[in-house]
Parts: sequence; structure tokens; C-alpha cells
Amino acid sequence: MSILITGTNRGIGLEFVKHYLKNNEKIIATCRNKHSAKDLLELENTTSNLSLVELDVSNPNSINEFTSKIAGLPIDTFINNAGVFGPRNIEFGNFNAKEWLDVFKVNTIAPLLITQKILKNLRLGKDKKLAFISSKVGSIEDNTGGGMYIYRTSKTALNQVIKSLSIDLKDENFIAVALHPGWVQTDMGGPNALIDTKTSVKGMIEVIDNLTPKNTGKFYNYDGSSIPW
Ligand code: NDP
Repeated sequence: MSILITGTNRGIGLEFVKHYLKNNEKIIATCRNKHSAKDLLELENTTSNLSLVELDVSNPNSINEFTSKIAGLPIDTFINNAGVFGPRNIEFGNFNAKEWLDVFKVNTIAPLLITQKILKNLRLGKDKKLAFISSKVGSIEDNTGGGMYIYRTSKTALNQVIKSLSIDLKDENFIAVALHPGWVQTDMGGPNALIDTKTSVKGMIEVIDNLTPKNTGKFYNYDGSSIPW
């Protein structure tokens, strides 16, 4: 199986790489700067199953360069993991468009641009699975706390992208899902988060492994339970 994962130099993305390598899968792992991605470089030295490729998902030129490097390679599963939270301390009354757009570029626009560009690779793959790491805070029904305008809206809009992809690619048997990784101890989740990356990724990989075409267009927690849109 060949798996493409974005944002793999730390956090959840790095754990996906470690987990899939243990399972002897072939991985194309992306990061913004290979030379500073110490953990990935160490892993690359231990196996021929890991290909590291640079990709800044917020930059369309970088997406073009990346996709030309992987032209002709089949991809069975695409895990769109790279994401940003954006500024944390802005309160209602102080928002500006630039900071909002920067988060949208990474969390919402890039996933669609990348999917469009790698569709040929995905068509060559067998599994046709598209797993987008979203967040429960993007669920409108689940929003009881308010705030987090920038991050929430970026993931809510990502969820719509996923839903449309699930419909547009259904005839080709693609399976597109949104995944919530849990509240995870990473740079983004912080030290007080509820679970570690191993627990989150083990759960999400089980969800991904069990996906069938009837699951397309759904939103799942890392433990396999459904999340309302
Ligand atoms: P981290 O902040 O630990 O890691 C984020 C990753 O995304 C890094 O590898 C980072 O690379 C990469 N990234 C950010 N911007 C870009 C970019 N422009 N181009 C390429 N890569 C980029 O976060 P997590 O591991 O916690 O998050 C992974 C995913 O899970 C995200 O989509 C996040 O929204 C989601 N999530 C996380 C939760 C949590 O509790 N941790 C909860 C819900 C969802 P670099 O080092 O170069 O910045």
C-alpha cells in the first residue's frame, strides 16, 4: 500500500509515519523543510519505504513542484494532516482578514488543491481513500462554546470540501472522510490534551483501514464513533 501524508515533521503527522512504517507500508511523507526535519531524516536512514518530499501546502507553486515530483506514482491512501491553529489570543472585536485567510489557505484551500493535483496518482492506486484531518470544533452542531472563529470556520469549510468531494468522486469509488484526531498532546494540542499521538493515530488508522464506499462523506472520531456535521 502507498500512503501520502502531509505535515509529517512533528505531531500527529510524524506518528502516522512511524505507525505505517512499523506496518511495512510505503510512505510519501511531506514536510516544509527536509533539512530541519530531524526525526524524519533519522527514519529515512532506516528504511527504503519512506520517501521524503518538501511541500508547503499554502503555496500553489510548491504544490505544483511536489506533484510533478510524484507524477506516475500510485497513491492508495491520502492523509491530509498539515494544519495550523492560527492566532490564539484574538477576541471578538479584533479580527483581521489576513490572519484568517492564512489559516484558510492551509486548512481549507490546500486540501482541495492537493487532491485535485494528485487525482491521477489516486486513480492509479487501489484503495482510493481520502482521509482529511479535520476537527470536532469544526462541527456546527457541536459548537456550544463559541469563540475560536478562525480555526473553527477553517475546519467547518474543510468539512464541506470533503462532503462535495465524496459526492463528486463517488462514481469512481473514492472514499472521502473527515477525521477528528481527539484532543492530542502536540504543539497544537498542548500538554494538557487528553490523549497522546500514539492513541490518536492507532485509532485513526483503524478507522481508515475499515473504510468502505458506504462510509464516504462521513465525519469520524479517532475511536470510530460518528460526529455530527
Ligand atoms: P502540530 O502543530 O503539532 O503539527 C502541524 C503540522 O502541520 C506540522 O508538521 C507543520 O509543519 C504542518 N504545517 C503547518 N503549516 C504547513 C504548511 N503551510 N505546509 C506544510 N505543512 C504545514 O499539529 P498536530 O499534529 O496536532 O495537528 C495535525 C492535524 O490535526 C491538523 O490538521 C490539526 O488541525 C488537527 N487537529 C489536531 C488536534 C490536536 O488536539 N492536536 C485536534 C483536532 C485537530 P511545520 O513544522 O513546518 O510548521
